[in-house]
Amino acid sequence: MKAIQRELGQTDPIQREMDELRERILAAAMPERAQAKALEELERMEMMPPASPEYSVLRTYLDWLIHVPWSQQTEDDTDLVRAAATLERNHYGLPRVKERILEFMAARMLAGPRLKSPIICFVGPPGVGKTSLGRSIAEALGRRFVRISLGGVHDEAEIRGHRRTYIGALPGRIIKAMKDAGTINPVFMLDEIDKLGSDFRGDPASALLEVLDPEQNVAFTDHYLDLPYDLSRVLFITTANLLDPIPPALRDRMEVIHLPGYTEEEKLEIARRFLVPRQLEANGLASPEYAVQSAVAAVHNRNASLDNIPGAALRFSDSALRQIIRGYTYEAGVRNLEREIGAICRKVARRVAEGRSYAHIVHPSALMRYLGPPRYLYGLAEQQDEIGVATGMSWTANGGDVMAVEVSLMKGRGVLSLTGQLGEVMRESAQAALSFARSNAETLGIKPKRFETTDIHIHVPVGAVPKDGPSAGITMATALISAFTGRPVRRDVAMTGEITLRGRVLPVGGVKEKVLGAHRAGIHTIILPRRNAVDLEEVPAHVKRRLNFVYVDHMMDVIRCALCERSSDKRLAAEETTVNGAQP
Ligand code: ADP
Repeated sequence: MKAIQRELGQTDPIQREMDELRERILAAAMPERAQAKALEELERMEMMPPASPEYSVLRTYLDWLIHVPWSQQTEDDTDLVRAAATLERNHYGLPRVKERILEFMAARMLAGPRLKSPIICFVGPPGVGKTSLGRSIAEALGRRFVRISLGGVHDEAEIRGHRRTYIGALPGRIIKAMKDAGTINPVFMLDEIDKLGSDFRGDPASALLEVLDPEQNVAFTDHYLDLPYDLSRVLFITTANLLDPIPPALRDRMEVIHLPGYTEEEKLEIARRFLVPRQLEANGLASPEYAVQSAVAAVHNRNASLDNIPGAALRFSDSALRQIIRGYTYEAGVRNLEREIGAICRKVARRVAEGRSYAHIVHPSALMRYLGPPRYLYGLAEQQDEIGVATGMSWTANGGDVMAVEVSLMKGRGVLSLTGQLGEVMRESAQAALSFARSNAETLGIKPKRFETTDIHIHVPVGAVPKDGPSAGITMATALISAFTGRPVRRDVAMTGEITLRGRVLPVGGVKEKVLGAHRAGIHTIILPRRNAVDLEEVPAHVKRRLNFVYVDHMMDVIRCALCERSSDKRLAAEETTVNGAQP
């Protein structure tokens, strides 16, 4: 039939489709091998009746081959000054991070495509600007930006696709994202690389290794495409909340940049300069120029007042922003802060739309009406000194925080019970703390006999959150000793450090984040292992100024700093001074 039709000079629609496909294949600038394969598949297709399922499978396959970019690329912008300005315009603070990014970009520009540069990995809690930094890098380089999330990816096929023999097979996420990018050199962000899983369906990490490894990614194979695909021009950026869960082989290939989280001052500035203008614009309360102008003002003059920029129907007072930060958010990043500001803007937008009157400046007194009662108590620490409760510092994917360790003693036979979902390491460190207290009972002023007649219960709230690690060692020891001696623990003191049986205090990780978390919680004094003093270098100076650091080598130093005198002693001392005529 086909031959006869051709002889007669008639073109049927099917034939026209084939011709069109062939043209597009030739125009797609594929590498030789891919083109040969595409043409071969096209020939197979021509032999098939269009109604057969195989036909549409082939058609989809060819569409993919045509739409995936093979050689289209954007020209890199090589102006570092402009790149620096772009970063500055989109992000407040983060001087070190920006510096690292610019150095990285400079090296890439100078070496060109020859450079097998390591992959950047931004590590930090949610909402500290990892994704938006990636976007800015793309903007600065003039490249396209694509992003996929690896959270919960268990199956290798999600990265690499399914073979075409499967019904409904498609390419993996990498190739899909490349198609969206439309160029072979986008900035490609792989989010949540620490949440990658692995199970019986294969190990996605090894597939990712092939994606990220400059030696191998020249010829990445997707099962669906079944052709080598060149990923070597792509600039990969990965993000993670925590470094530890990333498979070591992947971690080795990445250049890690830490973003520890923001202080209250930094959050306030970010809110004033970026979040408020953006939310005002998003809710129709400001002209688009307002957001641009306030960002420009932020670049040129850090202390510039934004109040003089025209075009906003609503303003936030600094004290209101501070109150939102303290009372309505509890986070290392600024994501919830942006959400709360957005919530207020929406409420005001509604009043505007309904033609009702509204206050043009948001003051702290209005927050109750807009957001309800505050959800967090600022300054958890500023409560009473208590016996048997010590404040430790923890470090999670959400940033640093403080945590209480509670000890309660009951008559019994010396049984130690631990609750609060403590991991193996943390349980052992509780044992070590107890052994230290027992072996030094006399020095500490505890009758050794008491350990045999007392049951000990250590609890670390919040009970539902799993906790682990050795860094609560000195906190547990302090709470224990406080419970046994009856000396209250100073509540404005937070501590972190591993304890040995001899009472030596060993350094721990995550100090930067922990210090920021403790500062947020209103702590004044922080006890740190002496060897961790170097980690404070990266804590902002204005935070350090407000805190009092005590470096310790031994548990006895901790006790000296953290425990008050026995309350009865204190009362006695007070009485004595009053007797002597002095004010207590
Ligand atoms: P992450 O990817 O780390 O979870 P995002 O990049 O999504 O965080 O950031 C959340 C929001 O906070 C974004 O709207 C971002 O623009 C804003 N943001 C975070 N850090 C800054 C900063 N330093 N300056 C300006 N905006 C910021």
